[in-house]
Amino acid sequence: MPLMEPYRIKVVEPIPILTAQQRAEALARAGYNPFNLRADEVTIDLLSDSGTGAFSAAQQAAAALGDESYAGARSWFRFHEVVSDLTGFPHIYPVHQGRGAERILFGALLRPGQVSLSNTHFDTTRANVELLGCQARDLPCPQAKDLDSQYPFKGDLDLDAARAALAEEPGRVGMVIVTITNNGGGGQPVSMANLRAARELCREFGVPLVLDAARFAENAWLVTQREPGYESHSPTEVAKEAFGLADAAVASLKKDGISPMGAFLAVRDRELADRCELVLIATEGFRTYGGLAGHELDRLAQGLREVLEPDYLRSRAATTAYLAQLANDGGVDVVQPPGIHALYLNAGRLLPHIPPGRFPGHALASQLYLEGGIRCAELGSLYLGTLDEHHELVTPAPYELVRLALPRRVYTQSHYEYVAEVLAGIAKRPESVPGYRLTHSPALLRHFNCRLEPVS
Ligand SMILES: *Cc1c(COP(=O)(O)O)cnc(C)c1O
Repeated sequence: MPLMEPYRIKVVEPIPILTAQQRAEALARAGYNPFNLRADEVTIDLLSDSGTGAFSAAQQAAAALGDESYAGARSWFRFHEVVSDLTGFPHIYPVHQGRGAERILFGALLRPGQVSLSNTHFDTTRANVELLGCQARDLPCPQAKDLDSQYPFKGDLDLDAARAALAEEPGRVGMVIVTITNNGGGGQPVSMANLRAARELCREFGVPLVLDAARFAENAWLVTQREPGYESHSPTEVAKEAFGLADAAVASLKKDGISPMGAFLAVRDRELADRCELVLIATEGFRTYGGLAGHELDRLAQGLREVLEPDYLRSRAATTAYLAQLANDGGVDVVQPPGIHALYLNAGRLLPHIPPGRFPGHALASQLYLEGGIRCAELGSLYLGTLDEHHELVTPAPYELVRLALPRRVYTQSHYEYVAEVLAGIAKRPESVPGYRLTHSPALLRHFNCRLEPVS
């Protein structure tokens, strides 16, 4: 079947179209940092897939039924029913967003000095582990290092490395957290075989297995497409099986909840649940709303149903693969095989004349804005490298990538064809793209707040 969005549009938002001169002025004013642009200066916004999805009519209708009672609202019971059916966990809490769920769960699970093992900790996940005086250790599978290979499950946890870490210092590892899909690792999926093996490993060493399930539906879809034995499973069946393997789960619902805000925390053990609940009530809200409004809970419940529809997931995966194909045709390599929520462009390879210290990923992201009003984020040495006191690069990142995140149900095929055209235009004369130098760099969370200037 040809690529086609399985929905039609009944509410629209105009897209800002700027002149090249206006874009150049806007980016200069933003200190050449796309995070500092105003949204009304952006034509196609691929900065994040978090909280940026479009509502369905059914979600809006559900929100109209929102019950804003302080405790025991009808909305809570509707949200609980969907999450309980999906995850099978006996204890479920709504939380305002994923990082809130992380803070509560990790605080109840980890003791200072312990280690958390993961296929890759997402940045807030890492921060919440480290804030507790613990160490976050990333153990991606070795196949993830080859950006060009077609290995289907580059999101997998390195089981040998995890076993070694668990055996090395008994009691030191406080949890194993598997991120599905592996957002920090190129949005690559985790296989069910890997999750099952992680389950066995955790059982053997008596360590809890936690799922960071922000993209549980997208991971489930890729399992049905890539893992032998799962061809005839529905995404819902795969997702249920994944949750069934874990002792606890945190899920930001700004992604696969197709809503601007929300998350859940789910745990199996009663005593652990009690400890989480105390902190939830003290810092988020009562256990039946957890920092969310009733109408938000209803919209989330409906979003969680829609996100598992095969037609939706098939179209979303096909869109990302189509954009990857167009980028390739235009002469730009991407991390293979393409996942779902984002496409990662290999800027280091496209712009070999720009050394890592002049940030090729950032250069490509800036050029996409200057030439097409496209906003996206660098994932390379600007984000991950270490700098000296003069803002010069000391240790580069392993790769110089640019992430094009695809908001859910927001842009159509023609928007992505436009993005590919702008990209191909840049790829025709890559040597005209300048590098960048940092002029201001805060000590923490550099990529959000830094300022740069082009170097000719
Ligand atoms: C977004 C995200 C989080 C954090 O969730 P927020 O809702 O943004 O706080 C945690 N883990 C992963 C994998 C994510 O993608």
